[in-house]
Amino acid sequence: MDIILLGPPGAGKGTQAGLLENKFGMVQLSTGDMLRAAVKAGTEVGLKAKALMDAGELVPDEVVSGIIGDKLDELGSDQGVIFDGYPRTATQAVSLDEILAERGRKLDHVIELVVDEDALVVRITGRFTCGNCGEGYHDTFKQPAKADVCDVCGSSDFKRRPDDNEETVRTRMTEYRAKTQPILPIYEERGIVTKIDGMGSMDDVSQAIEAVLAQN
Ligand code: AMP
Repeated sequence: MDIILLGPPGAGKGTQAGLLENKFGMVQLSTGDMLRAAVKAGTEVGLKAKALMDAGELVPDEVVSGIIGDKLDELGSDQGVIFDGYPRTATQAVSLDEILAERGRKLDHVIELVVDEDALVVRITGRFTCGNCGEGYHDTFKQPAKADVCDVCGSSDFKRRPDDNEETVRTRMTEYRAKTQPILPIYEERGIVTKIDGMGSMDDVSQAIEAVLAQN
């Protein structure tokens, strides 16, 4: 089964994709994660992407579609995939159809996480992760039990994404409204879109997603 998780930054796509990976053995394909890895590794793609990502603007369509195609080629044809943060424009949606068709795949579901934008700004600007093990934390909602020490691995090396500041978050949301939300009708016409309240608890959201996947 191949699905798209759609929603503005901070809607919880990455968290939910992680849960689906653990529970159903699906693979999360996050273009944001892939681009951050490319920036860290200093590759040509990373060099092209860095300034745009720091500003909250979108990376060119052909760059992200290229990396998605390459990643799919590394997976078995029966490996279910969760697209997280891709597609983000109409051009990418067309490319995804081609990329999937070329590989004998098709989209089963598009799940939109519907969220309140002002609450998201609080969610995003407060989040940080352990730089050693990747455990996620939040200034307001989930501080480590002992200040400055990771609950999981004991490291004190915490990290914040450079694009998780309020100004960039607002730009990322504007990009979502202007370029990503307009692609929903493409999938609505195919009858594969389900909207889910993304402001519920992590468990409520994941149960709602599982109910959609159980439909086929
Ligand atoms: P994310 O981790 O999904 O919030 O993505 C972080 C940043 O990476 C975005 O603000 C964009 O600059 C870039 N990015 C990620 N995915 C895409 C995409 N599908 N198309 C264009 N830019 C992307």
